[in-house]
Amino acid sequence: MKCRRCKGPAVIKMPRHNTAFCDSCFQDYLLKQVTKAISAGKMFQKEVPVLVAVSGGKDSLALWDILIKLGYKTAGLHLNLGIGAYSQISQEMVENFARARGLELIIHQYQEAYGLGVVQIAKETARPACSACGTMKRHHFNRIAIEKGFPVVATGHNLDDEAARLLGNLLKWQVPYLQKQSPVLSDEGGKWAKKVKPLYRLPEREIAAYTILNRIDYIVEECPMSKGAKMFTYKETLNQLEKASPGAKHQFYLGFLKQKEASFPTPPPPENEDACHTCGQPCQGERCGYCRLIERATAVPT
Ligand code: SF4
Repeated sequence: MKCRRCKGPAVIKMPRHNTAFCDSCFQDYLLKQVTKAISAGKMFQKEVPVLVAVSGGKDSLALWDILIKLGYKTAGLHLNLGIGAYSQISQEMVENFARARGLELIIHQYQEAYGLGVVQIAKETARPACSACGTMKRHHFNRIAIEKGFPVVATGHNLDDEAARLLGNLLKWQVPYLQKQSPVLSDEGGKWAKKVKPLYRLPEREIAAYTILNRIDYIVEECPMSKGAKMFTYKETLNQLEKASPGAKHQFYLGFLKQKEASFPTPPPPENEDACHTCGQPCQGERCGYCRLIERATAVPT
């Protein structure tokens, strides 16, 4: 198998482009895809500091590595969710990555902050773990970005993640979610840090190849709380479609993005949004979901 561009020995076959690339041409292609995503979405410019949310998994570490190669100003943010050995190994992976490259890394540990991990917090509040986890991540990404002077938070969501999410939203006709699904979430006039997903054009397989070629060590295990998640079924279904029809995921998700504003227009920011009386983050009503969650989880039983 030869590289389509330089005719050297190919290291990866890419059926969705009916091509194959050698190591150097593949990495060049991949960096160009990320550059294209950043510029098409007007995500951020070279002088803007970007906070990269790094879980310790391959996507977020690959994203951080790519942004550095492209010359962006970055720091990493790792939330240690307090899920036993999984969280411990995840943090180690992120620390090793940052240390080896001399990068700034911010770590926030739930166990230290609340005396509880995310699973106990969910239990105490009778919420599904992933729902509590999502509320907490949103709060901390925003809080830490604003406190530390990062107008943008970048996450490692890839094409498979976004296409699976789209499939789930369509199957249930979740119109409000479809309206909000985008690789760029606005800062709403500076109330929030802008949230961006620069890997949305790249499938998981290509990101995995990038991490292997660049010898990036990451935690291979999925979060134990993700067991049985519908997202895996959606991904598997899309993988079968991709196998039968290479490029299907790309057409599905990028086609949606092209049609989105006509079919599912982004709603205007809520008019009655206020600042949470406890933490000051934007919310509807007096207190935000995060503050109510933490208050319930840490309340001393009477
Ligand atoms: Fe959080 Fe784990 Fe659920 Fe992901 S799978 S949302 S990391 S608890």
